[in-house]
Amino acid sequence: MADEKIRNGEFWALALERAQLGAWDWDLLSGECYYSPTWWHMLGYEEGELANTADLWLQLTHPDDRERALASGDRHIAGLTDSIETELRLKHKSGHWVWVLDRGGVVERDAEGRPLRLMGVQTDITRQKQAEAELEQVNVRFRLALAASGTGIWHHNLGADKSYWDARTREIYGLVADTDEVAGDLWHTFLHPDDKGDAESAHLAPLETHNVVAVQYRIIRRDGEIRHIESLVRFIADSQSAGQILGTVRDITEAKQREQELAHAARHDALTGLLNRAAFDRLLAEHIATARRLPLAVFYVDLDYFKALNDFAGHAAGDLALKSVASGIVGCLPPSAHAARLGGDEFALLVPNCDAAQAETLAAAVLAAVRDADLGLAATSRKLAVSVGIAFVDDHRTTVADALACADDACYAAKAAGRNRFAVFSAEATSGSGGLNAARLAADTVDAMDDGRLKLFGQEIHLLGKPWQESRHVEVLARLAARNGKLVPPGEFIPAAERFGVASRLDRWIISTALSLYGPALKSGAVTLGFNLSAQTLSDPQLWDFVDAIISETGAPHSGIGFEITETAAVTNYAAAEQFVRKARERRCRVSLDDFGAGMSSFEYLRRFPVDAIKIDGSFIEHIAQSKFDREIVSAISGIARSLGCSVVAEKIEQPKALDILQGMGVAYGQGFLLHRPEPLEAIVARAISAIAPAVLPGRRFGSSKG
Ligand code: C2E
Ligand code: CA
Ligand code: CA
Repeated sequence: MADEKIRNGEFWALALERAQLGAWDWDLLSGECYYSPTWWHMLGYEEGELANTADLWLQLTHPDDRERALASGDRHIAGLTDSIETELRLKHKSGHWVWVLDRGGVVERDAEGRPLRLMGVQTDITRQKQAEAELEQVNVRFRLALAASGTGIWHHNLGADKSYWDARTREIYGLVADTDEVAGDLWHTFLHPDDKGDAESAHLAPLETHNVVAVQYRIIRRDGEIRHIESLVRFIADSQSAGQILGTVRDITEAKQREQELAHAARHDALTGLLNRAAFDRLLAEHIATARRLPLAVFYVDLDYFKALNDFAGHAAGDLALKSVASGIVGCLPPSAHAARLGGDEFALLVPNCDAAQAETLAAAVLAAVRDADLGLAATSRKLAVSVGIAFVDDHRTTVADALACADDACYAAKAAGRNRFAVFSAEATSGSGGLNAARLAADTVDAMDDGRLKLFGQEIHLLGKPWQESRHVEVLARLAARNGKLVPPGEFIPAAERFGVASRLDRWIISTALSLYGPALKSGAVTLGFNLSAQTLSDPQLWDFVDAIISETGAPHSGIGFEITETAAVTNYAAAEQFVRKARERRCRVSLDDFGAGMSSFEYLRRFPVDAIKIDGSFIEHIAQSKFDREIVSAISGIARSLGCSVVAEKIEQPKALDILQGMGVAYGQGFLLHRPEPLEAIVARAISAIAPAVLPGRRFGSSKG
């Protein structure tokens, strides 16, 4: 039964069908070829659908595969090979190509051994071929990716103790060799001594974990060059041997450098190379926290005149100056100190374990370094200076912000005291009136003189009951326009200026500015001006040289100029006030005693100061209508003043009633919001000039009762 089936081939046909093998049977003598149903089906045909010519398969074969397929058959027929085995593409009925594996061989020969009949099978291997093609594509991609990333691959055969480095790996290590195989211990000889231990143990780690381990280390190439390497390492177990370690290497030297550069840039100021603000803050916090570095000195260093240099010589020159200042500062520092640029023209230093004497020596060195800094060609004629504020931190609970704020305030004090100097922060100076803000305000007042934010205002002084033209006198009042545009009243910034020693400069500035601007108006007699003088100005021995010079420069007449000195200033600087008044007299400049009564000093002083006028303090005038006491005081003061031959001026006349009372008492002059509110001096002078334009008026001179 079974034999039967074998003979009739039914069984085989079934087996071929199941195995999806297409069989062929080629009779060499007749040239006829038989194809099994599976073969037809494999190509999408019904059995015998195409004319069965001898070369049917060849016609269906892809042109590119024909030659190879024929050659394989010819070689076998010629006895050169044991069998036919070839891969080729056959055209499917629907037009696509089917990859087949063709295997077969001679099954019958004639008596002389010449082949008569060949048989074989063709298997559809399209799926394998596709998988192969995909794998090849993955391979190509993988090789491309490796090449693009510059990654090298290597493996180490643990059993044989041999390593295989691909060309890229060898290139990375600077190894000249044209085979992959290298000695098993070669890699170790490249390792940087500092990284050797870590790198080696990382390469052993995969043996335990079977994970991918990443490690970075340095190698020293044979020519001495140090490179940074990153490796990914993995252990591959193998039942036949001890297994392999598989790895990649990548040269990350450039990336490391960029990383370091970025880290540096994040901590440093690009222009000067000093630490930046954030880095300085962190460093300061660390130092304060470490008690053994205390006391620690924090310096706040602010360039003076930098803005002027920048405007004058341009930003490139400004940058150059900043660099040169920075290197000058760095040159002064002890090794443990750090310098930072906080921004603009501000720097900060931190000096661990620094006592007062060391800090002062260092501050002096910084001042000298900045003075001597090479500002470059564009700015040779310019000089820079610094104001340095020093604060000491001796308590590790101090915050960074407090430490810097104290140094900053000391710096303001140095600026206010005249720049190009240092000041040490003192809690007492700060806790006084105005506190830290006073120092700031004083410094800002100094700046305001340079950048046009100090303004001249004026208030008319009237002969009571007469139009202003009868007196034509104006009290000059200073106003400070803050950086935010707000007008700061002198009551705020003058005390600050006095405390930080800049009041005298301020008074000089007011006098010289007003006389330069309005010298002609004074000369024409359109106005007379009264200047307020602080106590400091009063005791300034060079004051009259200065005033004389301005007067001769501007042509303003002495008689048009008056000075107001406060009673308290006169009393506390008695000798200076006496001198001042004498010199004013010599020049026929008027002098008024300001805020009279406020200090409640003895009238006795009045006899010693032969002033032209006394100005009764506004506090007695404000409520004069309501207060009998005030009326009595004012009446007494004006009586004495008259007896001494002084004019009397009442301040702060706000109500018509007060005006009546004062006139009734015989007070000749007055000022106050009722008569005129302070306004820019320019406006008052312009009005005065246009009023007298037709002819220069004679008229009564303010305070002219004394000669
Ligand atoms: P002062 O010399 O007593 O100037 C008069 C002050 O009284 C001015 O204040 C003026 O605006 C204000 N005033 C005038 N009339 C009235 C009024 O009817 N009611 C009220 N409530 N106030 C009136 P200001 O301009 O704020 O000046 C304050 C002080 O600042 C001045 O007092 C003067 O001592 C000082 N000062 C002003 N300019 C200068 C200056 O250039 N140098 C110096 N050293 N001190 C100045
Ligand atoms: Ca005054
Ligand atoms: Ca006054």
